[in-house]
Amino acid sequence: MAEVYSIAKARRSSCPICKKPSVADYRPFCSPRCKTLDLGQWLSGGYRLPTEEVPEEAELEAILQERTEDET
Ligand SMILES: [Zn+2]
Repeated sequence: MAEVYSIAKARRSSCPICKKPSVADYRPFCSPRCKTLDLGQWLSGGYRLPTEEVPEEAELEAILQERTEDET
């Protein structure tokens, strides 16, 4: 039952950060903040920075803006 439930939940596309319903503008997230938080997890998880320090939120937003500009 747990598996069926998680699949159904994924199809509804809730925010992977806080589980609120996703907003079209920020899909699959619910807000720019959750999008930034997810990028932070991605950076610390798969794309290690040369330092051990966790990036400041302002730095993450700058990176996120660069990415957005590239995509448009
Ligand atoms: Zn969220």
